[in-house]
Amino acid sequence: MKIRSFDAEKAILFLVATPIGNLKDITFRAIEVLNSVDKIYAEDTRTSGILLSHYNIQTKLESYHEFNQDLKSNQILKELQSGMRLAIISDAGLPVISDPGYKLVLLAIEHNIAVSTIPGASAGISALIASGLAPMPYLFYGFLDSKAAKRNSELEDLKYQACTLIFYEAPHRIEHTLKDMLQILGNRKITLARELTKTFEEYSRGTIEEILLDLPQKGEMVLIVEGFKEEAQIEEPFKRIDELISLGYKPNEAIKEIAKLMQKSRSELYKAYIEYKNIK
Ligand code: SAM
Repeated sequence: MKIRSFDAEKAILFLVATPIGNLKDITFRAIEVLNSVDKIYAEDTRTSGILLSHYNIQTKLESYHEFNQDLKSNQILKELQSGMRLAIISDAGLPVISDPGYKLVLLAIEHNIAVSTIPGASAGISALIASGLAPMPYLFYGFLDSKAAKRNSELEDLKYQACTLIFYEAPHRIEHTLKDMLQILGNRKITLARELTKTFEEYSRGTIEEILLDLPQKGEMVLIVEGFKEEAQIEEPFKRIDELISLGYKPNEAIKEIAKLMQKSRSELYKAYIEYKNIK
């Protein structure tokens, strides 16, 4: 079914992008819409209050977050059905993207209420374009599970995706996540983008092992990970063995070390390495 978003005066649910750090990253249209709607629903009214007062937006503000979204959704639906024009915003970036809002979008669609997007900043895609890794195709994953077992099974599922992967991660989990990625995905190229649009914006680019050597552990982070490359994945353990040998390890010791790191059988890795060396 087609629904026009711009039939004047009709009930509508606007999904409005807000800045991901720098207050200036908001569009003229976002400000116009936030000023003109009957009410704004925000994930955290204190955080959004700062943004709204910066732009002198005095529209009524109410909370809509992960923990009250079931309760509030019916209220919001009734308001829309009574003809109100409402906006949803989150603490940062696009609502719905790793933030609440999806349930409301579904509810509005189910009840033939117009939904309209007011685009703007989003951390994942902003990090991707500056990462230096292939921008397309990409897979936006958001947060991996915080529990190690679930996280590892999610990574196993992603292991053979050829597209660039985009993750959100909390600073206190980044080290564990990168170590799990090293085990499961291999020593891929990554970009860790931190504090985007803020004073200390920073990009760490390198292999997972390189980034782990000097890992930033503070700030908001997006992790961009190179997709699966068959050749690179197959040759990678052999290259790591060669590196250790060039550092003075005996071949047997180097194979033992890499087999341990990769949790692989030493004898199988030995056989594969000999074959690889014979072909090269
Ligand atoms: N809705 C947001 C969006 O469109 O990007 C994402 C919200 S999610 C709850 C918050 C996560 O986004 C953070 O933990 C971090 O991974 C990422 N993030 C948000 N702002 C960021 C920034 N300025 N720099 C780097 N990552 C950021």
